[in-house]
Amino acid sequence: MKVFVCQPHGYCEGVIKAINLALKTRENYPLRPIYIIGMLVHNEHVNNILLEHKITTLDYTFSELKDVMSELPSESIVVFTAHGHPASLESYARKLNLTIVDATCSYVSDNLHLIQEATNNGQKVIYIGKENHPETLSALSIGQNVFLYRKDDLDYYRTFCQDSIPPLVINQTTLAYDSLLPIHYQIRNVIPQAIFAEEICPATRLRQNAVKNIPQEVDAILVVGSKRSANTNHLVSIAKESHPKAEVYLIDSINDLDLTKVRHFKFVAVSAGASTPLEVTEKVISALKAIE
Ligand code: SF4
Repeated sequence: MKVFVCQPHGYCEGVIKAINLALKTRENYPLRPIYIIGMLVHNEHVNNILLEHKITTLDYTFSELKDVMSELPSESIVVFTAHGHPASLESYARKLNLTIVDATCSYVSDNLHLIQEATNNGQKVIYIGKENHPETLSALSIGQNVFLYRKDDLDYYRTFCQDSIPPLVINQTTLAYDSLLPIHYQIRNVIPQAIFAEEICPATRLRQNAVKNIPQEVDAILVVGSKRSANTNHLVSIAKESHPKAEVYLIDSINDLDLTKVRHFKFVAVSAGASTPLEVTEKVISALKAIE
């Protein structure tokens, strides 16, 4: 079997930084309980790596997390995740005297600062993102002038933007680039004065382009990553759209690889989400290469 591996694939710099920060915290505080507030990155293998270092993931929604945090031992260290978090959650951790470590990716922080700045200047903000994703919830938590984009609400945006400073249109960092442009077009049609900030991070963009550039002759494309990872799911959608003749699969690990099915393919491409550990993808690539 011929195997094409997308470059780059797997861990991005934000994910590497978040994991290293959590592990460094364990090294610095070998005896204190450490909790991740949410999933550090959206991949269960990463949760398990952290657990091996006695770092516990509190996989709850933001609304549940306050109650969960109030039960933590007072000497606990809490690590905020790469996706960002509402300022109110951090203040609550301070009120509880918990030690805080912030692993928010710098691209997400910059994005949240832009939103904060816009609302401080009296601008309304239309945020394009996945509903209930932690990054989206962090953005929406900035204030009541931040609105989640919904196609059906275009007329509503037009009304509230008539008598105010031009709104800022901004997006989640891991969106699919091709899906963003038509949304910008729709908004520009109803609010021509809107200001657009295109905020897809470089790591997401490179991984999406690598999938688009997979040779058209492949029989199948395997994207390795978690179903909960937004950037992984977007790679799957892009693969389906850019390679309509190929079969596209999202697999969490080698355990999801259906060898009876896969061995009929002659040419297979592999990519992986930005939160997928390299060794998980390597095992899939080796298994494919071992097929005659
Ligand atoms: S995908 Fe982009 S925004 Fe998300 S952690 Fe990685 S570098 Fe940061």
